[in-house]
Amino acid sequence: MRKAIRLCILFFVIFLFACNTVPITGRQQLNLLPSQTMLSMSLTQYDQFLKENQLSRDPARTQMVKQVGARIQKAVEQYFADQGMSDELADYAWEFNLVESDEINAWCMPGGKVVVYTGILPLTQDENGLAVVMGHEIAHAVAQHGNERMSQGLLAQMGGVALSVALETRPETTRQLWMAAYGLGAQYGLVLPYSRLHENEADQLGLIFMAMAGYDPRAAVGFWQRMAAKKGGQSPPEFLSTHPSDKNRIKNIQSLIPEAMIYYNKSG
Ligand SMILES: [Zn+2]
Repeated sequence: MRKAIRLCILFFVIFLFACNTVPITGRQQLNLLPSQTMLSMSLTQYDQFLKENQLSRDPARTQMVKQVGARIQKAVEQYFADQGMSDELADYAWEFNLVESDEINAWCMPGGKVVVYTGILPLTQDENGLAVVMGHEIAHAVAQHGNERMSQGLLAQMGGVALSVALETRPETTRQLWMAAYGLGAQYGLVLPYSRLHENEADQLGLIFMAMAGYDPRAAVGFWQRMAAKKGGQSPPEFLSTHPSDKNRIKNIQSLIPEAMIYYNKSG
């Protein structure tokens, strides 16, 4: 009995210190992993990824990815500065890369390491479409969805084991959860779809960031319609298995566009 009370107090304390507020939506989230841990895991995985994958040799398309990324970065930094939250981006060292791969995928790690796969470019079609994808992925990162997903996974798998113990004694489990949380888990059979809550949040934030950067948020509807049309294939693309796309999602995006248009019209 006493042990149960102690555990409750422990969880309450963890909750107090691990609670974080998502920008724009104001939602409270539980992030158990120290951001330094998230950043160092990101850098390790990112370096490993760049060693194993080929950067695009197409200078025009590489330049497009870097330019769209840099404009969205500026918008995100502006937004966080306006909210007095610049501290949260202090350790970010943004990078935007285009990688040669038929895979339909893109991601952004905590710390601002963004990778777009050439396989998604036929679906993004132009800079506005690319800004939809990059804005959405950057939104997942700055809203710390990965930390939240890992925290949920760790709680589910480790129960009452202290996090520091988990990180030290179960590095493989932690690493696999990390891969799954960032959509890199396919080869480990651990692909987790983002929850609807995280998807809606990333759509909302992503549309605002792209609009602030001067990209037309209305492009999101066409992009997600093209993604939905891809669903029919035998093996759904990586991006689709982590980002389920359906009528509800597109409807939700349509309802978010008027708010984003206010930022878009101001950006001109
Ligand atoms: Zn997403």
